[in-house]
Parts: sequence; C-alpha cells; structure tokens
Amino acid sequence: MGKSIRTFLKHTAKDFYNQSVNPPIVRASTIIFKSMNDIKKTQRNYKKNPIGGHFDYGRQGTSTTHILQQMLRKLEESYQVYLTPTGFASIFLSIFSIVRPGDEILISDPLYSPTRVLTEDYLKEFNIKSIFYDPKNFNDLKSKISKKTKLIYVENPGSNTFEFQDLSKIVSIAKKNKIFTAIDNTWGTPYLLKPIKLGFDMSIVSATKYYSGHSDVMGGTLAVNKRAFKYVEKANKIIGFRLSPDDAYLITRGLRTLDVRLDKHQENAKKVSNFLSKNKKIKLLYPFKKGSQNYKNWKKYYKGASGLMGLKIKCKKSSVTKFLNSLKLFGYGFSWGGFESLALHQESVLKEKRKFTNLAKNEHLVRLHIGLEDSNDLINDLKESLKLIK
Ligand SMILES: *Cc1c(COP(=O)(O)O)cnc(C)c1O
Repeated sequence: MGKSIRTFLKHTAKDFYNQSVNPPIVRASTIIFKSMNDIKKTQRNYKKNPIGGHFDYGRQGTSTTHILQQMLRKLEESYQVYLTPTGFASIFLSIFSIVRPGDEILISDPLYSPTRVLTEDYLKEFNIKSIFYDPKNFNDLKSKISKKTKLIYVENPGSNTFEFQDLSKIVSIAKKNKIFTAIDNTWGTPYLLKPIKLGFDMSIVSATKYYSGHSDVMGGTLAVNKRAFKYVEKANKIIGFRLSPDDAYLITRGLRTLDVRLDKHQENAKKVSNFLSKNKKIKLLYPFKKGSQNYKNWKKYYKGASGLMGLKIKCKKSSVTKFLNSLKLFGYGFSWGGFESLALHQESVLKEKRKFTNLAKNEHLVRLHIGLEDSNDLINDLKESLKLIK
C-alpha cells in the first residue's frame, strides 16, 4: 500500500496518528514522565534508535514535528531530516556541523546571497577559508581541492543565474578525497531531485518555498545520510534550532500537495518560457534549450523543472523598472515557491563579489516565479509589460 510518493504524501500524516485526517498540533516544552525510570527508558530508547521520535524535552520535537520528519525522510530517502526555523538556519547547521578552524570549504560561486555572506565574510573570522569555484567548469573545482578541503557546498541550480552542474562527478571526486558534500536543493526539492540517493551527505531545502507552498510560514530542512548524521545530531543539540509545531503543521499541510503543485508550476513555467524564448531582448535562464550544458545536466538528474527562472535583459535600467512596475499579476517581493507569481530585479548580484557571473553593461537580471494562475493570463501580463522595454 502507498508505494507511490503521491499516495504517501496524501495519507501519511493520518497513518501516524490515530486515523484522524490531520495530525494534532502538540505544543510542548516539558514532557511529563510516569516515573524516574520512565525518563531513563526514553533516553535509552533514543540511544538505541535516535531517529525513532524518543523525546524527553520539547526542543527535540513533539509528535507533530515527528510526523513531518517521517514524511520528509521518505521523500528524501535519507537517514534523518532535521527541521529548522528557516532555510538559512539549515544551511548554517550543515556547515557548522562539519567545518572547523583551519578547514577549507569549496563553494559553487552563484550562491544564495546570505550564504555568501556567511561563508566568505563571517567564517573567515573563525579561520575557515571559503574558496569559490566556477559551476560551469568541473576542472576548476577539481584544481581547488586541497588537503584542507573539508566540505564541498553546492547550490543547484545557482541562485539567480541558474547554472546546472554535473552532480555525480562532484560526489565522486569528494568521496575519493573523503570530503563531505552538501547541496542546496530548494529549487528542485526531493520531488524532482534526490541528492542523498545520488551520494550527497547533506541536502538542504527551504521549506518556506515549495513545501509550504502558500507564503505563510518559514522553515528549513536538512536531510542527512548516516555519515553526516553523527556530526549533525551533535551540532543540532548545541545550536538549539527547533521548528515550532504550528509551523510544522502548516508545512505538513503544504507537503500533501507538493507533487500536484510542482507539476502545475512546471506546466505553466514551460508555457511562459516558450513565450519568453521568442523575445530577442531576453536571454532565458531556465533549462529549455536542448543541447546546452545546462539542459544536459538538468535532464541527467532532474525529474522535472520547477517554476523559478531568470531573465537576462539588455536595456536601460529605466526600462526594466517600467517593465516590472507595470506587471499586474506578478507581485514584486522576496522569496518564491508559493501559489502566486512573483518578480524581482536582482540588483544584489552585481553588488556581491561573484567571481564567475558576468553581466554586460546595461544587462539586467530579473527573477520570475511562475505561479499557479492561468498561464495565458500570465503570458498576456508579460506581453503587455515587455512592450515597455526599449
Ligand atoms: C530562500 C532560499 C533559502 C533560504 O530560505 P529561508 O527559508 O528564506 O531562510 C536558501 N536557499 C535558497 C536557494 C533559497 O531560495
């Protein structure tokens, strides 16, 4: 029963608790035990089976968060999944668990911008060196591996510029050199790509995006294999991250329709990208062009594409401003992954110290999240507003 992940996502929360369609929200700091012996028994059970939901204090979770963990472990095909208050907290947890002073981290250059600040600026103060590699050139990564490399941190595709890498090659060179690997899989989620199965030690998803799907909650997840579990379990206790049961409930609710929503995001994004690819002023950053390196690497690993894409537009800044301000169905704001379409001018990319992103003079990066509206309405909205690009 319930072999397909589609079926699993619909029924699991119910199976974990007394057959009610929805799981209860269990809020707790203190957990009361029947006896002194009972508390010891729970602690012994935890030691025997640390992923079994044997909690003695609310910081470790409650049955509400445990249900979400069970769903995600199955979806990720991982040993354990940690729940954190934001996606960025999961990124921090993955790095904090593994690297120590004197170590080096190899990082793919097009990066979620707070991750760049964390690695390049902040970790430096702890004598941890961040070295950035070109995601389009595997030899660049290879040549930067040293005896000090402790972690290879990948974001796929790269934030805002959407480079897709040959992931198996990275995993295999890391294994050969006994280096840990982590990947930010927020764009694809394990519905489209299963990094732990591919051989990554850790995989991060911002649950704020497609897991929740409704732009009303924040959360993060870090899936780990057994090798990374040893380190992350320890670090997680020290940091004290915890996802609130109320937020876990909302993310569980969103997860049930992850497959349906992502299928529709993809269908709409394909139609929109088809329309945009005909516009000569736009270079589309989305895996649509057969034969390109990005397309090949996407096709090789992903079951599909999500709704987030980039546009490189060559024009005056005032034209981009007019274009974005005149969009009626695309909200202007941060984040993505909800049911609604969003647009954002990525000026920050120019201010970051990226090493391998070249924007020509008067070239602008715009990010579009293609939501679940009618694709014809979205295309018409874009068509009207693109007229303002001169
Ligand atoms: C949004 C995002 C994050 C951070 O997630 P939050 O939940 O906003 O903290 C990390 N990585 C990527 C690729 C993202 O898009």
